[in-house]
Amino acid sequence: MNVSVVLFTSDLRLHDHPPLRAALDGSYAVVPLFVRDRGVDAAGFAAPNRLAFLSESLRDLDAGLRERGGRLVVRTGDVVEEVCRVVAEAEAGTVHMAAGVSAYAQRREERLRAALEGGPCRLQVHDAVITALPPGAVTPASSDHFAVFTPYFRRWSQERLRDVMAAPRTIRVPGTVGSEPLPCRRGLSGVAERLAAGGETEGRKRLMAWLRDGITAYEERHDDLAGDATSRLSPHLHFGTLSPVEVVHRARRAGGPGAEAFVRQLAWRDFHHQVLAARPAAAQADYRPRHDRWRSGSGARADIEAWREGRTGYPLVDAAMRQLRHEGWMHNRGRLLTASFLTKTLYVDWRVGARHFLDLLVDGDIANNQLNWQWVAGTGTDTRPNRVLNPLTQARRYDPDGAYVRRWVPELAGLGGPAVHQPWKLPGPDRVACAAYPDPIVGLSDGLARFRRARGHV
Ligand SMILES: Cc1cc2nc3c(=O)[nH]c(=O)nc-3n(C[C@H](O)[C@H](O)[C@H](O)COP(=O)(O)OP(=O)(O)OC[C@H]3O[C@@H](n4cnc5c(N)ncnc54)[C@H](O)[C@@H]3O)c2cc1C
Repeated sequence: MNVSVVLFTSDLRLHDHPPLRAALDGSYAVVPLFVRDRGVDAAGFAAPNRLAFLSESLRDLDAGLRERGGRLVVRTGDVVEEVCRVVAEAEAGTVHMAAGVSAYAQRREERLRAALEGGPCRLQVHDAVITALPPGAVTPASSDHFAVFTPYFRRWSQERLRDVMAAPRTIRVPGTVGSEPLPCRRGLSGVAERLAAGGETEGRKRLMAWLRDGITAYEERHDDLAGDATSRLSPHLHFGTLSPVEVVHRARRAGGPGAEAFVRQLAWRDFHHQVLAARPAAAQADYRPRHDRWRSGSGARADIEAWREGRTGYPLVDAAMRQLRHEGWMHNRGRLLTASFLTKTLYVDWRVGARHFLDLLVDGDIANNQLNWQWVAGTGTDTRPNRVLNPLTQARRYDPDGAYVRRWVPELAGLGGPAVHQPWKLPGPDRVACAAYPDPIVGLSDGLARFRRARGHV
């Protein structure tokens, strides 16, 4: 029996944690380690909203460990160097960690394995920690991953997920290993006003409330923008303060059409992870190149700025962009629409939009964000790559009374009913009353024609 190090990454929880469980089973003491990785900052991934959520999650993880007799060890630096330092201090025999999918995570694992090679400590990487089903667990006959969701989902649904593991009761941490102070949310600037709270305790509360009060109506209501009837579990799944395996098991136990529709969305999450694991370059490069020559120059720059600020003149698009800024989160229907508007109606490179989302989203995730952007842009896994979402049709379907727009666009809050979706059509005095709100930056048919020309579908 020796000492093990558990390196926490996107799995900041005590419940259902295979690396921690394995470490406790094989060692008399464990060092629960989180490294504030300089490499992640250098990659431009340290956005204020996620740093705030991360600090709360680390504090909650530390509190949970302390309740069980342990504590969290936090270090700052290069992740591989810091792990090796802690291994030496603790004289550890094993490092346990979750398998990741991004190029960065894959490289981290390789570097760590190489650094430990030849020494007394081995690396053990665990699957099904950050996804419900490990990438590569199901594959089509002719490829290392599924490129289309529907056949993936069929296979995914037939697989048996591993059982949920209980949280440990006690943890012994060697006294010889010191920690830096825990990071603190206070003092971070640029955090969204209405950011969700982080941490496993909060995540579990939200999950239980969702299973009790929300999931039954999910199938009917998930696209109702004003109803806000989705789980909002995405930041907890991104940081691993909730286990996807446990969420799927619990949802299945709840049963019914709402739960089925919800589990299908969790499978979308696994789907994008298995695409990225097999094609890490898809985080930046087109998965299916369409030979786009995206707009650039001053006209495009002005359009991008209007889109970012929520001043495109299309109220539903602008409401969603403003929700993103205020909450660090956006409803899925809003994400689909704003991404379609940028990449198709404005014909701007999906990477520009993906970067903006990553700067603000509390759930901003390389697999889910980049591959959803590619899906919408038609360079990804959508089997109908040239579909364009019309903001007015979307408004009629998903915000029929205009309540979502009134909530997020104060310049239009005085307008009643669906008229709020087309302020440019209002009679003179009514239009003057909301003059602070801009006219559309592009006509929808002009935008559509430009996109079709660009993709050779005139
Ligand atoms: C352009 C674009 C960018 C996106 N960026 C991200 C991102 O950075 N991080 C992220 O977690 N999700 C992203 N999504 C997917 C989806 O919009 C969010 O997961 C969802 O809105 C989160 O809200 P929720 O937890 O209430 O979802 P629910 O509707 O309650 O769904 C439950 C869970 O299923 C998963 N899920 C739902 N829809 C999808 C999807 N289309 N793809 C993958 N997983 C899904 C999420 O983990 C979500 O928490 C993006 C979608 C688009 C169109």
